Amino acid sequence: MNTLTESAPSAPTPSSAEPMVKVTNLHRRFDTVHAVKGISFEIYPGQVVGFIGANGAGKTTTMRMMATLERPTKGKILIGGADVLRETLHVRQIVGWMPDNYGTYANMNVFEYLDFFARAYGLKGAKRNARVEEIMDFADLTVMADRPVNKLSKGMGQRLCFGRMLLPDPQFLILDEPAAGLDPKARIEFKNLVRLLAQQGKTLFISSHILSELGEMCDTLLFIDAGTLVYHGAAEALRRGTHGQQAGAELHVVDVGLAGESGQPFKDWVSMQAGMKILEMRRDGARLELTAASLEVLAEHLRRMVQAGLPVVEFHRVERKLEDAFVDMVKGLHPAGNLSGEGMS
Ligand code: ATP
Repeated sequence: MNTLTESAPSAPTPSSAEPMVKVTNLHRRFDTVHAVKGISFEIYPGQVVGFIGANGAGKTTTMRMMATLERPTKGKILIGGADVLRETLHVRQIVGWMPDNYGTYANMNVFEYLDFFARAYGLKGAKRNARVEEIMDFADLTVMADRPVNKLSKGMGQRLCFGRMLLPDPQFLILDEPAAGLDPKARIEFKNLVRLLAQQGKTLFISSHILSELGEMCDTLLFIDAGTLVYHGAAEALRRGTHGQQAGAELHVVDVGLAGESGQPFKDWVSMQAGMKILEMRRDGARLELTAASLEVLAEHLRRMVQAGLPVVEFHRVERKLEDAFVDMVKGLHPAGNLSGEGMS
């Protein structure tokens, strides 16, 4: 299974390639609702981009405009250099679209369903047959070729929809909440499919409100909050807290274990340190956030704690969760505490 076409060359770096997608000052209004408020971004061939935002943030609207299914109120979208409004048919040949829900057809099995869409895509004869077989193999659908499509589990249905999208071999894939409602096993299978497609050099744009999942799958993250982009960058930079920091500085989260009744002296000491803040006080220590340009600088913080007479019995770095990084970032944008990121899981 999972052997669709030969593997493509590795993804070119942004500086060495024309963008696969170029979105400029994109707006979409629905009567009184300004769903997308002037967003701009570029996606390069081979990138796997996670598009994240709370319910109603504008993800589906943006994706539908990229897939030529919705007209922008203002702004421009180029896919593979082609304008979605002026060269719609050409764009549709490049783009694969997987909506968050899809219709199933009664009285059709998995093979017939894919064959039907392969015909609709203009594939003929032996070529069509070979493509359907190839897709069933890739999406692990062969064993259920005879199964009625309206009797498939959620995970199988997703794989079928995925296969349908891949039939015409699109270069740019837009997937709206593809992992929603999948059980853990189906999610892992889905992630494997994404990884294989990325290895083949496809460009993927995947929406979700589940940050941790996209962080694992995607090399780049794009956050949308109330129709506005609030972050576009590497997942790793966000997790490490290097975005928006001075060059070289990184945010670290550290659990510090303290002996005895030393919570108050510890708080007092931290309050006098630059680039250090307590995230949580605990019975036997605290969780700290600190800025440090290197592990040596982090070690220096520990040395100073000990030299200050604090009874440190533990100093343990913790991976910063993407969810926390996102909430921190949105907090910076909405200091009053109105976080649209709070609804994220
Ligand atoms: P979700 O995660 O819930 O799917 P989303 O981020 O995909 O949310 P959109 O579906 O793009 O958000 O919706 C953005 C805003 O635009 C919402 O306020 C929504 O109610 C509104 N909206 C979307 N489509 C329409 C429409 N056809 N008519 C009117 N309002 C719409």
